[in-house]
Amino acid sequence: MDNIVFLGNGGGRVIIATQMISTAGFVMQVQGRQIFVDPGPGALLRSKICGLQASKTDIVFVSHHHIDHSGDANAIIDAMTLGGIHPKGVLISTSMMINGAENAGPMLNKFYAGVLKECFAMKPNDSITIGDLKFTATPTRHEVENIGFVLETKTGMKIGYTSDTAPFDDLAKAFIGCDMLIINVLKPGAQKWKTHLCSEDVVNILKEVKPKLAVIRGYGAKMVKAHPTYEAREIQKRSGVQTVAAYDGMRIDLDGKK
Ligand SMILES: [Zn+2]
Repeated sequence: MDNIVFLGNGGGRVIIATQMISTAGFVMQVQGRQIFVDPGPGALLRSKICGLQASKTDIVFVSHHHIDHSGDANAIIDAMTLGGIHPKGVLISTSMMINGAENAGPMLNKFYAGVLKECFAMKPNDSITIGDLKFTATPTRHEVENIGFVLETKTGMKIGYTSDTAPFDDLAKAFIGCDMLIINVLKPGAQKWKTHLCSEDVVNILKEVKPKLAVIRGYGAKMVKAHPTYEAREIQKRSGVQTVAAYDGMRIDLDGKK
């Protein structure tokens, strides 16, 4: 049964340090493949707690190298390759994550890069097909090189993920046609921020994209304190799009969502 399990839904410095909610990312089980998205600190442990096996992962998607998105990426690759004994799997990420830069080493450990079957450094609008799944990288405006994605399945279902981004003119355009849109929302209400979205930004995006379902996550401490469920209710009321606030451990069944 295809589904998404939201292991951890926090982001930002305070949430990383306190783990007031988890930073473990989410896992999609789609058409026989397990995709681990943004495995931040806690990803391996939260997989076990939520009844998943990290070792069954086929594809790891790391949107960018910030620690709340990549902290456990090497650990997940270790789990899926049994410490590198059984090379397998694909990593989709940015060049900064995979190759590093002049003044910063890559977050992806060279050993783990070597035990993956394939490793793709994608730029916005690049596409890649893995079996029945097509990933298209989407643009962002963040502090560092970063991508979101649109995942298209053989059955025609489209799931979008914004990752961390400030609002910008063509952001919504990248997700037109998505059945489900997963959005990282750091701040509540109209608390604008230069590198992330707030709830008001999400209303504007959803009015344009009009997915069947929106899921908000990627909360900062202020968002947690404002109660994401209340924020989702307000977003839904103002955008007209059904909106759910992810909580740690939430599972969404994808069957029948197309
Ligand atoms: Zn970030």
